[in-house]
Amino acid sequence: MPIRPLPPLLINQIAAGEVIERPASVVKELVENAIDAGARMIDIDSEDGGTACIRVADDGAGIPPEELVLALSPHATSKLATSEDLEAIATMGFRGEALASIASVSRTMLFSCRAETGIGATIDVEGGSLGEAQPAAGSPGTTVTVRNLFFNTPARRKFLKTLRTETGRITQVIRSMALAHPDVAFTYRSDGVRRFHAPSGQSHAQRIYSVLGKDLVDELLPVSLEQGDLRLRGMAGTPDIARATSRHQHLILNGRSISDRGLGHALREAYRGLIDPRRYPTVVLYIEMDPALVDVNVHPTKAEVRFRHQDQLYRAVLHGVRDALQEADLTPVFALQTSGTGRISEPVAVEFSRGIPGRGGYAGGDSKSPRGFNYREVSGALDMDLASLREEPASGPFAVREVQGVMQVHATYLVMQDEEGLVIIDQHALHERVMFEKLMQRIGDGPLESQRFLSPLVLDVDPLQVEAARELESLLDSLGIELAVLGPRSVGLHSFPTLLIERRVDPGTFIQELLDRGSSGLAKDREDALHVVIDMMACKAAIKAGDRLQQAELEELLAMRSTIERSSSCPHGRPTSLKLTIEDLDRKFGRT
Ligand code: ADP
Ligand code: MG
Repeated sequence: MPIRPLPPLLINQIAAGEVIERPASVVKELVENAIDAGARMIDIDSEDGGTACIRVADDGAGIPPEELVLALSPHATSKLATSEDLEAIATMGFRGEALASIASVSRTMLFSCRAETGIGATIDVEGGSLGEAQPAAGSPGTTVTVRNLFFNTPARRKFLKTLRTETGRITQVIRSMALAHPDVAFTYRSDGVRRFHAPSGQSHAQRIYSVLGKDLVDELLPVSLEQGDLRLRGMAGTPDIARATSRHQHLILNGRSISDRGLGHALREAYRGLIDPRRYPTVVLYIEMDPALVDVNVHPTKAEVRFRHQDQLYRAVLHGVRDALQEADLTPVFALQTSGTGRISEPVAVEFSRGIPGRGGYAGGDSKSPRGFNYREVSGALDMDLASLREEPASGPFAVREVQGVMQVHATYLVMQDEEGLVIIDQHALHERVMFEKLMQRIGDGPLESQRFLSPLVLDVDPLQVEAARELESLLDSLGIELAVLGPRSVGLHSFPTLLIERRVDPGTFIQELLDRGSSGLAKDREDALHVVIDMMACKAAIKAGDRLQQAELEELLAMRSTIERSSSCPHGRPTSLKLTIEDLDRKFGRT
């Protein structure tokens, strides 16, 4: 093929390939434009996950009729004039390609009325070919209607997920935008049903509560830090409300919601030792800084940015959040004790950030205690249970017999011998494995036993979790979890499996996490979903690292070990046990 210039439609479609990945990207671009136009009120509607129709209406400054065609043309913008402007971008948009891109892959209608003149006009574009601007009446502001997205780019359409997932992504975009702009009112309806609303003129704190849910008021700690031109504020969630996904982590830089690996790491670091490292803290952080110190022109959708002083910002986020956590007195007290050999009765206070040993204290975020951290597990982790050894001295120090001769080390590992040598078992991993297998077998015989609550436990959830509740309803029923959707933001729990209640698993926390996972597309089919849920049950109900076991419990656990197939790895694929053979030992000690 000879070289030839690309036709304009193709250029726009290629640009759309970068910027417009799915319906939620259209919503993001249109809402950004509304914000740039100074809107106080933004109304968003979608049909069929945004594939049939997306409409964003604002009450901003509007576009004069004679500029409508330009607004839809590529590389035409009112936000930048010179390259100096690019050095310090203060608007959400600046590339001048969103409307042109969207219009090239859909049937778009743009209506706008200048607030100043009251003159309105409308223009239609179908797959990039522009009609003529026609006078039209309407209230001041702009309404963009995007129908049949990707009708002329079937490849892109194929990549879309279920309509429900796409609706979920739109909701997620709107929640982030709403957090970023607390002064602006947002309303989102999907298929005519209102899914999100936040009134105008809210403070940062009010907006955070509106978006994350008022029930979290007690769980959110204020963050505030100023360093020269840099200002950080927002809220950091207690370890109790850490989540299985990062959906509740929001970094907002000068009004723009961003994702940044470095800062994500700073957050993880701030919570080190407080939450399971596989979970994500709930955090909303507003970062305000000189726009000249960040480059937002590095990513087509501006989701990632580059900071001039990345290190300084990293430290500010780490310290800002960590200080908030420390002020809230989340610092645990370690009680060092050794059973049998007398006690060190003085509790030793150890500062959190430095004090937690590796992993002993994690044990999942669901253990309830003041401020959600299980102090007992921390002390347990330092606690070597010598008593169980002493109970069985009968056969001499080296004749450690199976079961009776098991030593629990650091309340985490079980050490014993078998015919071949030495076996080290991770007590949590083994118990989890055992529970998983038992539950899978048990499920074959009918629904799990459950306990009904006298009145349902009402849980505040977000709309995505509500979707997940609907989707998982019949599956959960068979597991003894009866959930009913009560409204767009609440579900009622009517029953909960006896097994989990006996293992003191908190129903509210469990369901929250389950729906959280469900809302981020937990599984591809029912079978898969069943595995995920049972896996979660097994993990929560299993004894934890740090739990001291009675002799009888040890025996039971080890007896189950031999009856369970594949017991050498836990459901997450981590090993449940390690073995050192006598030959290994001989070699290590230079006996051979
Ligand atoms: P950009 O936002 O990068 O400038 P867009 O293609 O998104 O590029 O928009 C092009 C231009 O159309 C904007 O610069 C702005 O002048 C105008 N425009 C788009 N949407 C709106 C709106 N909702 N209200 C007022 N003007 C708008
Ligand atoms: Mg724009």
